[in-house]
Amino acid sequence: MKYIGAHISASGGVENAPVNAHNIGATAFALFTKNQRQWVAAPLTEKSIELFKERCNQYDYTPMQVLPHDGYLINLGHPESDGLEKSRAAFLDEMERCEQLGLDRLNFHPGSHLNRIPIDECLKTIAESINIALDKTSGVTAVIENTAGQGSNLGHTFEQIAQIIHYVEDKSRVGVCIDTCHSFAAGYDLSNAEGFKNSFDHFDKVVGFKYLKGMHLNDAKKGLNSRVDRHDSIGVGLLGAETFKILMKDPRFDNIPLILETPNEEIWKDEIEQLRLWEK
Ligand SMILES: [Zn+2]
Ligand SMILES: [Zn+2]
Repeated sequence: MKYIGAHISASGGVENAPVNAHNIGATAFALFTKNQRQWVAAPLTEKSIELFKERCNQYDYTPMQVLPHDGYLINLGHPESDGLEKSRAAFLDEMERCEQLGLDRLNFHPGSHLNRIPIDECLKTIAESINIALDKTSGVTAVIENTAGQGSNLGHTFEQIAQIIHYVEDKSRVGVCIDTCHSFAAGYDLSNAEGFKNSFDHFDKVVGFKYLKGMHLNDAKKGLNSRVDRHDSIGVGLLGAETFKILMKDPRFDNIPLILETPNEEIWKDEIEQLRLWEK
């Protein structure tokens, strides 16, 4: 079973997210549980939490169909103690929000070395940040998203992701989200059947499909190995329809949230319908 949706708006309160998802015919959704551009947010209210759970229930969204995304300011591999402490506190808050909402996973970008510390040291710092958050929460898996490798962002190779997982103590609560656009920008050619097969065989060998807890379905505006993160609508970018036709027929992507982060939200409903047709 494929669960398909988009990163929908939660403006006005997290309780609006399941309604917005339902309105575009989604069977999965992603959301920010707080403003993604600010460090602090008011705690979720009891009313909000209750309504969120009630509506997820009403529209048939179970935790395995929901993939919350953390805020953009957090850098769990920050080279300086102030930035790192701030990031770790904000990440813990995000994990706790997921816990409160009854959700079981939180998607995040691993972190950046800012050209101030070696890659391996940064990967270790990221893993330690995950260890701290896992220690203080329960039931929520930390889901590392692969990146396009723009600037000093880590997590653009499957080897780096495997290295972070290696340093995480509780392997039962760490997972991975693969973004198709980021993969292509990072040099994994998912645009044709052979490249798709090779890339995901490599992923399975280096990381392992058992860690896959979600996918971001985005076409790519920039070229293979460009290391530039620019999403495009499904089928019109440099990946093209082929990538998504293959993916929708591959059972290794069953039972996890498949999330569109494509630029034109007006056509999300159509994109979801199209993906469903390719599944058949
Ligand atoms: Zn992301
Ligand atoms: Zn993404």
